[in-house]
Amino acid sequence: MKTIGLIGGMSWESSLEYYRLINEEVKSRLGGLHSAKCIMYSVDFQEIEHYQSMGDWESAGKALCRVARILEKADADFIVICTNTMHKVVNYIQENINIPILHIADATASRILESKINKIGLLGTRYTMEQDFYKSRIEANGIRVIVPSKEDIKRVNSVIYEELCLGKIEESSKEYYKEVIRSLVAEGAEGIILGCTEIGLLVSEDDSEVPIFDTAKIHAFEAVNWSLRK
Ligand code: GLU
Repeated sequence: MKTIGLIGGMSWESSLEYYRLINEEVKSRLGGLHSAKCIMYSVDFQEIEHYQSMGDWESAGKALCRVARILEKADADFIVICTNTMHKVVNYIQENINIPILHIADATASRILESKINKIGLLGTRYTMEQDFYKSRIEANGIRVIVPSKEDIKRVNSVIYEELCLGKIEESSKEYYKEVIRSLVAEGAEGIILGCTEIGLLVSEDDSEVPIFDTAKIHAFEAVNWSLRK
């Protein structure tokens, strides 16, 4: 079994899910007392969020790169960055380490391709929905990505930083997310990417008439594939 190096803490609410999902998956595949070989370095999210909101991606990249190097030295075989947003700096990190990074958008795109979906709605932080680093990675697979309106991007983003990353699950926000999902479907989305690792704490498959692609679940599952791959 290979050792998974997890960069967590962004937020720890979703890192907890990664830890649970990865261990449950290893247990279900190998049985007995098997559990995942993994190392998690959990950062202080306040610091990372500060860099994000200042648009200082260079400092954010350097901070996460330092962590990736520590995980590499600690014997991790590959890196899993437990957030979609921080994949904005994935290339910089990859250039500075010698072990591979399992890209969350690649894992998600493969899953979407299996379901033969051509047009997908994306929910995530405003960085993930507005900027190109994430959408283009999905679109490179021939999948068209659509995002909510400007106004909805703002509110979807606030729910992430002001509620979900703080462990607050509000019924009104769930209803609101369901509405946004419905409007993306009305625009032709055949599936929805939960492109922020906390959104799965708020909405699930039952809240949508089209298939849901929960990036935290997909990423954790693929991490186990990599870990157990011969
Ligand atoms: N976990 C979130 C994501 O998947 C948001 C937190 C962050 O900004 O890293 O994008």
